[in-house]
Amino acid sequence: MNAVKSVKSVDDLVKAGLAAPADRAALDEIAARYAIALTPAITRLIDRANPDDPIARQFVPDAAELTVAPEERADPIGDHAHSPVEGIVHRYPDRVLLKAVHVCPVYCRFCFRREMVGPQGLGTLDATAMEAAFDYIRNHQEIWEVILTGGDPLVLSPRRLHEIMEALGKIAHVKIVRFHTRVPVVDPEKIDAGLMSALKASGKTVYIALHANHPRELTAEARAACARLVDAGIAMVSQSVLLKGVNDDPDVLAELMKAFVETRVKPYYLHHPDLAPGTGHFRLPIEEGQRIVAALRGRISGLCQPTYILDIPGGHGKAVVSGSTVRTTGDGCYSVSDYRGGEHSYPPAE
Ligand SMILES: *Cc1c(COP(=O)(O)O)cnc(C)c1O
Ligand code: SF4
Repeated sequence: MNAVKSVKSVDDLVKAGLAAPADRAALDEIAARYAIALTPAITRLIDRANPDDPIARQFVPDAAELTVAPEERADPIGDHAHSPVEGIVHRYPDRVLLKAVHVCPVYCRFCFRREMVGPQGLGTLDATAMEAAFDYIRNHQEIWEVILTGGDPLVLSPRRLHEIMEALGKIAHVKIVRFHTRVPVVDPEKIDAGLMSALKASGKTVYIALHANHPRELTAEARAACARLVDAGIAMVSQSVLLKGVNDDPDVLAELMKAFVETRVKPYYLHHPDLAPGTGHFRLPIEEGQRIVAALRGRISGLCQPTYILDIPGGHGKAVVSGSTVRTTGDGCYSVSDYRGGEHSYPPAE
């Protein structure tokens, strides 16, 4: 095994051959605003011979991040507007986000919470704030599901996770605990017996939503880490972001969704990129996204179909943007398009 180290600074990027010394000035400017990190598993995956490598594009900073468009904003999906206490976002009646930690093992260049995560970000909830967050969940009977996100909640030590899961386990109205994480892909060795027993400590049904955007991320090691989780009784779903230059191609997306299903990870959400500052180079028009997603329907199994989602800026929640295949033609009649683009009336004209 080659001893690849974690990359956490512009210096590290240059030393690892992932950035040219000539780009230093721009990269230093980016590093002053946004966190940088790549794990050894991700560094090994990058094809240095390919200037457009889809893995590098997700994690290696680019001078384009210094261009901020007028419609971009620090809190693109409006977390603040729905945060009753520190660390909790309560937008939908039956579920809350619990943002225990604002650190990630890798920092995605398109991150929707890039202004909140990293060493200069919102940090980790202290014991008092955590207790207040649990109180909020205890006092709201309507909360059926707690979604641990951040940051990446699986950077917490098994001991801390155990405490959190035990506390949630004592709240009778909470039935589901969901984690949003990249760890099984970016640090698969972290999915060990200690972590698994922490995840199971609540006695609740546990779901893991795995974030990955390119089929190459599902390496043999990543698939084995997911297999350990699923074999331990944890259900898995996927979430991906539709990103220009990474996966904005029906072939790549089909491979990614098939890789999830092969790994027993059910495709869940494909997000349209949020309006985070300096991420315009990742966004494509919604019509193009709809065309790419529609192309998956005829090409791959129904098990492999994600729902294409837009988080409405301002905190209005998620909306399905998968293109509609049904149009009303009046008088209770409809026109339905099939996966090849053919049109059919419903009910059929005799
Ligand atoms: C995305 C999100 C959720 C989860 O939504 P699902 O559709 O259940 O996956 C919950 N709360 C907030 C605030 C969110 O942004
Ligand atoms: S893992 Fe999630 S929270 Fe962390 S940088 Fe990537 S998108 Fe942002």
